[in-house]
Amino acid sequence: MVLNVSDVLAAEGRTERKQVEFSLSVLEYGKQQYPITEKSPVRLTISNEGKGKAEITGEAELTVLLCCDRCLKEVPYTFSLEFSSKIVSPELEAAVPDEEEDSLTGYQINVDDLVSNEISINWPMKVLCRPDCKGICSVCGRNLNEGACECDTFVPDPRLAAIKDIFNAGKEV
Ligand SMILES: [Zn+2]
Ligand SMILES: [Zn+2]
Repeated sequence: MVLNVSDVLAAEGRTERKQVEFSLSVLEYGKQQYPITEKSPVRLTISNEGKGKAEITGEAELTVLLCCDRCLKEVPYTFSLEFSSKIVSPELEAAVPDEEEDSLTGYQINVDDLVSNEISINWPMKVLCRPDCKGICSVCGRNLNEGACECDTFVPDPRLAAIKDIFNAGKEV
């Protein structure tokens, strides 16, 4: 959704509130695609801050299906976004090029880009289906949250066990 902000940039003291749709249904992150299952309208406030200048603030909630890092199960993850950015008109940008380093320039604001960018900034470092996810068996590929498999993946070393016993025995004295 592209928003025209020329009115607010031109009219000093003006504030507009708008609700727009986030048009995308799939998010791309790190070459993977993630479906969006729920999304609120993007609630925007655009306030004039002097001739050719405005601030845009927005809020939105989106639920995206991510994958558990350990067992690859789908995990719905909700992003609660709050963002703000400065906007300057192209004329002002040309006159004072370095005034606002990371502001948006132009009379048209691409809200989808703004929201997508905000999502990638807030992307979770780790995604787990549950805090104690047991992952999948490296031998048979079974999801270990659904029950243990018969594979022999843990081989206790008898020498280590013996050392541990001695260590613990010494500690208790
Ligand atoms: Zn998991
Ligand atoms: Zn197994």
